[in-house]
Amino acid sequence: MSQDNNKISRVVIAGGGTAGWIAAAALSKKLGELLDITLVESEQIGTVGVGEATIPPLRTFHKLLGIDEKQFMRATQATAKLGIAFENWGKKGDRYIHAFGKMGATAWMCDFHHFWLHGREMGFDSDIGDFCLELQAAKAGKFATSPKSPVNFAYHLDAGKYAKFLRTFSERYGVTRVEGKISEVEQNQETGNIESLVLEGGRRINGDLFIDCTGFRALLMQKTLGVGFEDWSHWLPCNSAVPLQTEATGPAMPYTRSIAHEAGWQWRIPLQNRVGNGLVYSSHFMSDDEAIEKLLLNIEGEMITEPRVIRYQTGRRHQAWSRNCVALGLASGFVEPLESTSIHLIVTGITRLMQLFPFDGVSPSLVDEYNQQTREELEKVRDFIVLHYHVTEREDSDFWRHCKNMQVPETLARRVALFEERAHAYQDGGELFRVDSWVQVMLGQGLKPKGYHPLPRLMSEAEMQKFQEGLKSSIRSVVSELPAHQDFIDQYCRSA
Ligand code: FAD
Repeated sequence: MSQDNNKISRVVIAGGGTAGWIAAAALSKKLGELLDITLVESEQIGTVGVGEATIPPLRTFHKLLGIDEKQFMRATQATAKLGIAFENWGKKGDRYIHAFGKMGATAWMCDFHHFWLHGREMGFDSDIGDFCLELQAAKAGKFATSPKSPVNFAYHLDAGKYAKFLRTFSERYGVTRVEGKISEVEQNQETGNIESLVLEGGRRINGDLFIDCTGFRALLMQKTLGVGFEDWSHWLPCNSAVPLQTEATGPAMPYTRSIAHEAGWQWRIPLQNRVGNGLVYSSHFMSDDEAIEKLLLNIEGEMITEPRVIRYQTGRRHQAWSRNCVALGLASGFVEPLESTSIHLIVTGITRLMQLFPFDGVSPSLVDEYNQQTREELEKVRDFIVLHYHVTEREDSDFWRHCKNMQVPETLARRVALFEERAHAYQDGGELFRVDSWVQVMLGQGLKPKGYHPLPRLMSEAEMQKFQEGLKSSIRSVVSELPAHQDFIDQYCRSA
């Protein structure tokens, strides 16, 4: 440890992908005056090179860091994202959008979807998505942002360019970047704490606190400290992905596409300059060759990169923080990118670390608290992802039959039962996904509640008609004023 026995001032970040540079940016901007921060990365090893769809809290993170939105969007070829279109998930030919916005108006006793369900029973045939501004704007391919704009959005971004952007930012705030391949991780013989990273060629980087951002390798957390992994593949059987970049063939739409196929799904992420594509699948149900062939048949535009297979394991490290090492990003675990949650979890991970930062030394209570919060957060995200696979009418392949009939986590089974019986949905304290998200996905996947809250029954048909029309017409009027998303991006990113 530095000068004083337990004091922590030298932070070493191992790895410079999205996780490493997000950690470096946050620590240097917010705690840079108290810490000496070094990041080691290897160009030869490179990064995973995917991770291009995000969710709205990233904007809050950027605001905290004082990142200029136009600069960021220009540097990363970013577009706006209002949600995700899920195609073929509930059944073949289906399509629903999980949008970032709120639906309708809320009464304290029950959420809007109870009113919508009652309206359906009365004979009103509106789609629940008609009551969500973001969803309607996404469908229309429209978007704008301004301090007054009520639209809740996130970004699609180029992962490689984002890491570079954050590197420039972090170096400005004092982060020292070291290029080199870590060949050895040295531990203190007595305490087992990590003391230094040894690079090929012999250079030694000493530190007090280490952040493992070495991706799936988990060089510090797993290979050195031996922190094991909890496997979740019995709930999420996909274990492979083939990413591929293509040229854009038309205007960028403000949403991600997730298209289910017989053994997984395919993503399409529109950036300013290109489209990110990828096929996610389970190697137990589809071979790599089949996956590549399927992807190549379902892309639009000229290929910019060649397809390559990424193999992964779904689950998490037993501890995200062990001894004097915290794992972030892929080194800490992985739940597939169906709802674009990984980058968000890096941000909450580093935020949590800053809140609990062990300036006066690592203590068991800090470590416990960090690990507990991390565990709870990821379990809820996992349940939300499993929901998409499990609640489906699809039985057209071994993969879907497996997903439909598998046992799901108790926490998810409870939520599904509550919604099925009484349309009750909830957001736990600190949980990422809101009631609107749970409802959009549960209904979108084809779950049909048997009952709902009686409160809307107090409304007459005329009142329901007025209520629904009022909401829809105010959304229609906002959407009609919005520019086409592509026009907005062209104009916004060109302007000073
Ligand atoms: P990496 O990008 O792998 O970075 C690891 C770093 O460690 C690199 O700099 C590497 O050089 C360095 N390193 C490793 N070993 C050594 C060594 N020995 N010496 C020196 N340096 C070393 N997330 C989302 O939020 N949205 C998405 O849409 C999304 N899509 C995804 C699609 C797929 C198929 C996958 C697999 C993941 C996706 N993710 C997504 C997750 C996202 O890609 C990651 O969370 C994010 O990129 C962070 O990766 P990382 O920095 O942990 O690892």
